[in-house]
Amino acid sequence: MAEKRDYYEVLGVQKGASEAELKKAYRKMAVKYHPDQNPGNKEAEEKFKEVNEAYEVLSDPQKRAQYDQFGHAAFDQSMGGAGGGFYGQGFDMGDLGDIFGSMFGFGGFGGGGSARRNGPRRGNDINVNIQVTFEEAIFGCKKEISVAVVDQCETCHGTGAKPGTHAETCSKCGGTGQERVVQQTMFGAVTSVRTCSACHGTGKMIKEPCGTCRGTGKQRKTKKYEVNIPKGIDNGQTIRLAGKGEVGENGGSYGDLLVTVYVQPNRVFVRKGYDIYCDVPITFVQAALGGEIVIKTIDGEEKYTIKPGTQPDTVVTLRGVGVPNLRNPKVRGNQIVTLKVKIPTSLTERQKELLREFYGESGAKESNASTTQSAPQEEEKKKFSDKVKDFFKE
Ligand SMILES: [Zn+2]
Ligand SMILES: [Zn+2]
Repeated sequence: MAEKRDYYEVLGVQKGASEAELKKAYRKMAVKYHPDQNPGNKEAEEKFKEVNEAYEVLSDPQKRAQYDQFGHAAFDQSMGGAGGGFYGQGFDMGDLGDIFGSMFGFGGFGGGGSARRNGPRRGNDINVNIQVTFEEAIFGCKKEISVAVVDQCETCHGTGAKPGTHAETCSKCGGTGQERVVQQTMFGAVTSVRTCSACHGTGKMIKEPCGTCRGTGKQRKTKKYEVNIPKGIDNGQTIRLAGKGEVGENGGSYGDLLVTVYVQPNRVFVRKGYDIYCDVPITFVQAALGGEIVIKTIDGEEKYTIKPGTQPDTVVTLRGVGVPNLRNPKVRGNQIVTLKVKIPTSLTERQKELLREFYGESGAKESNASTTQSAPQEEEKKKFSDKVKDFFKE
């Protein structure tokens, strides 16, 4: 299959198009490519499908939000060719009839009433959650999941009839699933339409039900799917696997499988949007003198040179080593590093000596350069050191 076109492009609208604009554009395109207008034209048929698919997604606020976020990956068929057909099946003439009926004022079924009872109905969506590690969310991964789904019965292939027998068209309603009831009232005969009492609206009668599904045509199965987790996915975001949900009714399309991704927290890194935050400890000597340090990134390590005189909690940005953008993984966020200056809690005698010596020098320097505010402190300290000296003298 060729590369999928952007849905907005397909409908010829801007990304921020309003619902009304979308509807208008869809209507124009749908009329242009409608099979009735282009009998036997394969290209028009393809375009018609494409237009419908685009509108189906963009007219649904939830799907549209997902599409805006993930692009076509939102509806990724990670099963490859095997599942690809479901999306196509999702487009069925039964549904279209309804859309056209309401949009163009075609008669539809039974003059504005609800859709046919025995018409195709889409299967339910299924929600599942999966957990991924911090790294898996950033670099993407494949995850195998098992889901219990209501699917077509394998024994009867969804007919509900025992193999070798057939579901017969309901004789009472002739397969429409509806029956007309004529009531005599004081105003005369009134005809109303209701669900067929013989077939309960299915339009079919099963004389010998399938033993596996007891005539329902459905079976609960555990299915395994491989889910493609796109690079850059964030905690709580959902991936839609089109057509991997529950089986539809009366030949309706399958529902979708909605996989919500939960990202485990990382000990070192915290993610905010596409940026990654972390703290990196440096010694007070490194802070004062400067030097090269190694910063852990999500890709591995990066060397960074600290400037002499770096202050505590200095924030450093490492560009392009953050989270890949979901829509364009080549574009990545940044890593925001806070340099945490560590003050040693235990020192050897020699270290203390050196620090005292350092303090003596820097103290003198500071008092030279500084304001009167530090002077009294300086005096106090001198007094104290004198006291100490005096103490040792005696
Ligand atoms: Zn069955
Ligand atoms: Zn019937």
